[in-house]
Amino acid sequence: MKYLDEFRDPARARKVARAIAAVAPAGREFAFMEVCGTHTMAIARYGLKKLLPPNVRLISGPGCPVCVTPKEYVDLAVALARTPGVTVATFGDMMRVPGSSADLSKLQAEGADVRVVYSARDALARAEPARKVVFLAVGFETTSPTVAATVKAAAAEGVGNFFVLTAHKLIPPAMRALCETDGLALDGFICPAHVSAIIGSSAYDFVADGYELACAVTGFEPVDILQGIYLLLKQYADGERRVDNQYSRVVKAAGNRRAQELLAEVFEVCDSRWRGLGDLPASGSALREEYAAFDAARALQLEPEETVPDRGCICGEVLTGLKLPADCALFGERCTPAAPVGPCMVSSEGSCAAAFKYGYE
Ligand code: SF4
Repeated sequence: MKYLDEFRDPARARKVARAIAAVAPAGREFAFMEVCGTHTMAIARYGLKKLLPPNVRLISGPGCPVCVTPKEYVDLAVALARTPGVTVATFGDMMRVPGSSADLSKLQAEGADVRVVYSARDALARAEPARKVVFLAVGFETTSPTVAATVKAAAAEGVGNFFVLTAHKLIPPAMRALCETDGLALDGFICPAHVSAIIGSSAYDFVADGYELACAVTGFEPVDILQGIYLLLKQYADGERRVDNQYSRVVKAAGNRRAQELLAEVFEVCDSRWRGLGDLPASGSALREEYAAFDAARALQLEPEETVPDRGCICGEVLTGLKLPADCALFGERCTPAAPVGPCMVSSEGSCAAAFKYGYE
C-alpha cells in the first residue's frame, strides 16, 4: 500500500540505520525526545532502539493525552458519573485511569451511565433529552478541532443538554517547559506528527532558534522514525539547528488553516495543569464565552472529592523524561495493564504500557 509498505520495508530501515550510525560521531552522546505517545508505541513495537548506535538515546515525552491529564480532572469526571441524570461520554482510554476513589469503569459496573464513544459527535448523538450528556474533552491540537466542530453543531442545532468538560492541551508550551526543565539534557525532539498536521511544522521554530535544539516532524512508520532521527543527527553534523519535516506527505509548515480558524472561533487559550509538568501558562484551550452554555465546568454543579496525591506512581517523571518506567518500584508488580496504578500504564499511548508490552528499554 502506498505510503505504508515503503515505510515498513526492513531493508530500507536497515539502510537508514546505517546512515544514522555514519552521522552520529562516536564519543558524543545524543538524547532525543519523542514527544508523541504514538511514536513511543511505534518505537517499542518495532524495536527501533536496537537499530540505533549506543550513543543515540530516545526518551519518551508527554505526548499521551490521557497520561498528562491531571488526577483532579479524573476526579471531576468521577463526580459527574456519580451525578443523577448525567451521562458521561468518553474515549475508552479514560475509563481505567484511576481517580482518588474510583475510575470510570468501576462506576459503570456499579450502574453509572458512562459510555465509550469514538468522537465528540458520537457523544452529541447520544444526547437524549432526559439526560445531560457530558463529553470528556481530553487531547491535544489533533482532537480539539473535532470538539470545536461538535460544539458549533450543538449550538446550531439548539441542543441544550450537551456539555464538554475540557482538558485540551497545547504541545508547544509543553515543549518550552521541557526545554527549561532542570536535569533534562536533550539534543532535540521528534515532533508529534498528528499535532503538526494542525499547527504546522513552523510552530517549533522557537525550539530550534531559541533553545538551539534540533527538531524533526516525523511520521509513525519505522522508516519514518529512523529518517527523523537521521535528520536530527544531520543537523548536528551540519552545525545548525532547524525544524526538518520528514512527514511532508501530511504536514505543511503552516498547518491546517481551516482547523486553526475553527479552534480560534470556539476556544481561547488558557492556563492548564499537566501531570508531570504542573501549571503551565497558556498551555490549554477553554470554550469561549459565546459557548459557555456547553461548558460543563460552568453550566453544571461539580462537586469533586478532594484529590488524593499519588503514592509510588512516578508517571509525572516518566512523562517528562526524567525517569524510565522500569525506574518505578511498582512497574510490572503492583502496576500492570490489568491493574494499572497510573495513567501511563492504562493508555494505549503510555510509556509504561509500551515498556510492559514490548519489554523494558
Ligand atoms: Fe505509574 Fe504504574 Fe508507570 Fe509506575 S509503572 S509510573 S505506577 S503507571
